[in-house]
Amino acid sequence: MTDKTLAVAIIGGGFAGIGAAIRLKQKGIRDFVILERGTAIGGTWRDNTYPGAACDIPSRLYSYSFAPNPDWSHTYSGSNEILGYIEAMTAEFGLGPHFRFGHTVTGLEFDEPAGEWEIAIDGRADRLRARTVVLASGPLANAGFPDIRGIETFEGHKIHSARWDHDYDFTGKRVAVVGTGASAVQIIPELVDRAASVKVFQRTPGWVLPRVNRRTSPLTKELYRRVPAAESLARRAWFYGHESVALGVVWNTPLTRVVELVGRAQLRRQVKDPWLRRQLTPEFRAGCKRLLMTDDYYPALQRENCKLITWPIARIAPQGIRTAEGVEHQADCIVFATGFDVSKTGTPIPVIGRDGRVLAEEWARGAFAYKSVAVSGYPNLFLTFGPNSGPGHNSALVYMEAQIDYLTRAIGTILDRDLRMLDVRRDRQDSYNATMQRRLTGTTWNSGCRSWYLTEDGFNATMYPGFATQYVHQLRTVNLDDYTAVPVAAGAPKPRIAAVS
Ligand code: NAP
Repeated sequence: MTDKTLAVAIIGGGFAGIGAAIRLKQKGIRDFVILERGTAIGGTWRDNTYPGAACDIPSRLYSYSFAPNPDWSHTYSGSNEILGYIEAMTAEFGLGPHFRFGHTVTGLEFDEPAGEWEIAIDGRADRLRARTVVLASGPLANAGFPDIRGIETFEGHKIHSARWDHDYDFTGKRVAVVGTGASAVQIIPELVDRAASVKVFQRTPGWVLPRVNRRTSPLTKELYRRVPAAESLARRAWFYGHESVALGVVWNTPLTRVVELVGRAQLRRQVKDPWLRRQLTPEFRAGCKRLLMTDDYYPALQRENCKLITWPIARIAPQGIRTAEGVEHQADCIVFATGFDVSKTGTPIPVIGRDGRVLAEEWARGAFAYKSVAVSGYPNLFLTFGPNSGPGHNSALVYMEAQIDYLTRAIGTILDRDLRMLDVRRDRQDSYNATMQRRLTGTTWNSGCRSWYLTEDGFNATMYPGFATQYVHQLRTVNLDDYTAVPVAAGAPKPRIAAVS
């Protein structure tokens, strides 16, 4: 690592960090590093390798428009294929030399007189310095076992969905699965094929909608290879198709009932037993929690070796799971598909901004930012997947691409104009967030269910209340009126920038 000040430090080597690196390079900015705590690239797609791991957004849309892939094998891809796409992009754009693996960032502190961020890295006494920082650590990066009474007493094998143990052989085993969210509905159909028995512990049934997955024909691939405009047209079609779904999924409207009708029809078609159907019927508005897109989940639940348990978990015992009515369900292995430690309050790492302000304190009751990418008082720092940037109906990659393009423009401005600080104005940030929170009151996410989108107090710091088109549009230009731009003082020593390779 260089001891000179870098132009950009990117924290996180997942989809967002890699996308930011590509766009910086395309803009001619090469003086950056990607600090990655792991030993490989790919972020959530490197970590989530559970059986059945896939994306429920069509690959044509779950990819960057600046790195199209004509070769997607199916409408929806599995995690291996997505990771392959990320690796191929990294190679194609020559990002290898920019990566610093095993670099866990433990803190960021802004040195205001110098206009530089000091970056503390685990195990290193010295601090890395960078003029700008892209915080691309991802919201779904930290997974841990849930806080269920007695979990430490379990004598069998414990697996978290995001840290799969590929050495564990499920053949002939009694398996318990805790959770019925987006990860669980992909895992359960695979487990029933392998294990002797699978008991699924459901706390809240979700809305399940069909997902029609088709193989891409060689002819279509060839067409996309030869005529990139056709590929881009297909992407657009998927984009606007998903945009139209927002009317029933983002806002609680009469169309939400249509989405629920589709969900109920799927339940009626796939589940004949009225009692099981009742147990699987959601009691919240569709969209309030993430929709579950799968054709395989309900059939898997009805296989002979699978059983749905809806009694609340009282505790985990040495031999299995005890439910509230006093039954102990014995298990050799418990799979926790219980989600991630998503920080809706606080920050993933300590961040100290101008005048010693601490971002975690400002975000203690819920995170906020300007257009989800910049926070007042923390100049030259840009976030991907920051507060209120989550999509409920469209591809996360569309939102990510808009953030990346915005922040590369802002970083370009800082470097080209030799700014010491580009700090978003507090008044602009406050009025933006007041609008966000007002608009969120009419959304399905704020309609009364419990989800990882909300804080304990019900504050929604996660989702963007609108169409993806609106989100992308607002990030199209960096309006310097929204910022306080402070040039490097005349006569002050220039920031020391060095090329990194
Ligand atoms: P999740 O959506 O947070 O679901 C966690 C599940 O575990 C829920 O059913 C939850 O029940 C249950 N649970 C949590 N703690 C529990 C406890 N102490 N006792 C009993 N049950 C408990 O997590 P996830 O399924 O891993 O998905 C997280 C996010 O990852 C998704 O929202 C999505 O953004 C992303 N994801 C995407 C895909 C994709 O295809 N694109 C696939 C997988 C994941 P409650 O509902 O009652 O809280």
